[in-house]
Amino acid sequence: MIDSHCHLDFPAFDHDRAAVIARSQALGVRKMIVAGISRQHWPRLWNTVQTNAGLYAAFGLHPYFLAEHHNQDLLALREYLTRYQDHPKLCAVGEIGLDFLLTDLDRQRQIDLFEQQLELAAEFNLPVIIHARRANAQVTACLKQAKLPRAGIIHAFSGSYEEAMEYIKLGFLLGFGGAATWPRATRLQGVLKRLPLEHIVLETDSPDMPPAWLATGQRNSPEQLPQICQQLAAVLGISSAELAAQTSKNVQRLLNLSA
Ligand SMILES: [Zn+2]
Repeated sequence: MIDSHCHLDFPAFDHDRAAVIARSQALGVRKMIVAGISRQHWPRLWNTVQTNAGLYAAFGLHPYFLAEHHNQDLLALREYLTRYQDHPKLCAVGEIGLDFLLTDLDRQRQIDLFEQQLELAAEFNLPVIIHARRANAQVTACLKQAKLPRAGIIHAFSGSYEEAMEYIKLGFLLGFGGAATWPRATRLQGVLKRLPLEHIVLETDSPDMPPAWLATGQRNSPEQLPQICQQLAAVLGISSAELAAQTSKNVQRLLNLSA
């Protein structure tokens, strides 16, 4: 299995990061994509992915942290991408996108930042890892304009079937994780069932987005991915081995991860 989206660089893992990674890999989660959120976190993220052969990095400016980002951070992103573009550990630009759920985040500034990062992804021929909350129509519009050479992943997809198909038409993969395991997530599970398997990937978004079986406040981690895979396979009516194999193949095809 591949955890296509996690934040192993976060302080929540400072006391036992290596042990979490070792346990995850022992459970069959061989590779993990660590998504970047802001410039000040990139050095720590880069150091984190050097500690294990199964870890890969994405650098980006997350819309949720809009207040922390400065215009020169885009220049810094360009420098990072220039420096590491041929490094096998760099796999994408992310986490970038639009969050229209939080009304205090200026929408136009988010769109500007997003569009500029999409341009960088195109320029460096990298896929993107996208955060889209209450913003699928706008994200889709931006992606149509950006014409990315390698598409990307819509992480923690939570839209309608029609929105999913718009992304899929653009070549995107859709990430599913803890949110889809909750018994009340019947709408999202209904969407998942109708999607082509070749466009689905698994993720934890750990330490956030706990699956249904974790107690409130308990830290999520890539160790939860096998059980997430099992639950989603049950929703899809296939074996968890088949879902694990197909989703890994999908991530591998898009991100071209080194062995
Ligand atoms: Zn994330």
